[in-house]
Order: sequence, then C-alpha cells, then structure tokens
Amino acid sequence: MISSFDVQTSKSVNVAKSVLVIMLGVSSLFGFQRMALYPAYKDYLSGVNSSLIEQYVFEGECENPVVAVTFDDGPIANTQKIRQLLQKREIPATFFVIGQNMNESYAQLYQDPLFELGLHSYYHKDYRTMEEEEIEQDFEKNMKMLVKYSLSAKYFRPPYGIVCPKATEMINRYGLQGVLWSLDSHDWAGYSGEELVSQIHDNLAAGSIILLHDSIEVYELSLVLDVITQSGYDFIPLSELLECQ
Ligand SMILES: [Zn+2]
Repeated sequence: MISSFDVQTSKSVNVAKSVLVIMLGVSSLFGFQRMALYPAYKDYLSGVNSSLIEQYVFEGECENPVVAVTFDDGPIANTQKIRQLLQKREIPATFFVIGQNMNESYAQLYQDPLFELGLHSYYHKDYRTMEEEEIEQDFEKNMKMLVKYSLSAKYFRPPYGIVCPKATEMINRYGLQGVLWSLDSHDWAGYSGEELVSQIHDNLAAGSIILLHDSIEVYELSLVLDVITQSGYDFIPLSELLECQ
C-alpha cells in the first residue's frame, strides 16, 4: 500500500531527479566550467545567456593531442620578436589584433601562412560600457582597417571576453567566427617562469585554445612552447583545430 508519505517522497525524488537532469544539461551546455579560465571570468560567463555563449568557440573538439596558440592585444613592438620565435620553430598561431594599433609596417608581420588573423575590436573597450551605435562603429572601423592594410580576418574575440548581444550580432553580420579560449595562460596576470609553465602544463587538453598576449617576453613564450611540446602536444592552426569533430 502506498501511503501519502511515500507519494510525497516519490514526488520529491522525481523533482530532485528533474533538477539534476536540468543541472547536468546546464553543465554540459556550459562546458567552460571545466576549463582553465580566470575565476572571475568564469563567474561572469555563468551569468550570460546560454544562447549567446553557444555562438562562440572555446576549444576544438579534437581527440588527438593538438592545441592552437593565440595572441591578443597586438600589434605592438614585441610582436616582431614573437613572430620570429614562432617562425623559427614553425609554430602556427592566430593573432587577435586591436585595430587602432595597426600600421603599414606592423601589417607586414602577419604575411606568413603560419599565421591567421582575428579581430579584437578597434579600441579594446569593454562593450558593456558602449552604446550599440558605438559598437557598430567599432566594427566598421576595424573592417576599414583590414581593407587599408590588405589584411583579412576570420575570427573575432571581444575585449575581455565580453559576450554581448550587439557585438555578437556584428560578428555574425561580418561573417566572422567568435572565438574565446579554454586555457588562460595568465600571462596578463603576471604569471611567469614556473607559475606560467605549470598553468599551461596542468591544464593542457586535446583541442585547447591557449590565450597568450603579444606582451609576453620571448623567453617566457619559449618556456610555454617547450612545455606544450614536452607534454606530447602538437601545434595546429586555429582553422584546423575548429574542424576537429
Ligand atoms: Zn585584449
């Protein structure tokens, strides 16, 4: 005989089960929870509408041990040194450039099949502080910059990884792919030497998109590249990584 207590219990169990299913659904949807992101950034992403997040790529769905390295916030004087090291070691990379930094001589740095280009806004402002019209102008200026310097970009990474509806709409309008990252090197947060190497080593995964910055010292970058190679991972272009199924 089923008592009302049992019915209540079984109802609670079912409710608990549904909650669990929803939670599992959410956590698999928000794959970034298991990624090596800066904690405050993870908190930020947790509050963003999933329909927006789904339009960005965080990592490649690769089975083989391959990664893509990406550099933000250039071009700057140091970009030349990074370029030389990558060329010397034949390592493909993607540079997410800030439009207002570009000039004729910097534009030459990207003329190598090893390198792919992404946009990282024109002024590197936080889109949350901008009107929709300003965001639109930011994209327009960047597109003009590409034409002016005969460059082409396939990707877009919003400054600070901010995922806002207007910028997402613009990314789609210009046929770009929104790309974030799954492994934050923390080079921007002052990580160097052993700390930097451990951050990379401990969090490497097949299909990782690694976030670095053009400001990284070449010596530090060589440590990063070494630990990736020594861990048995290969470098592939971002375009290839995004094709992993
Ligand atoms: Zn940036």
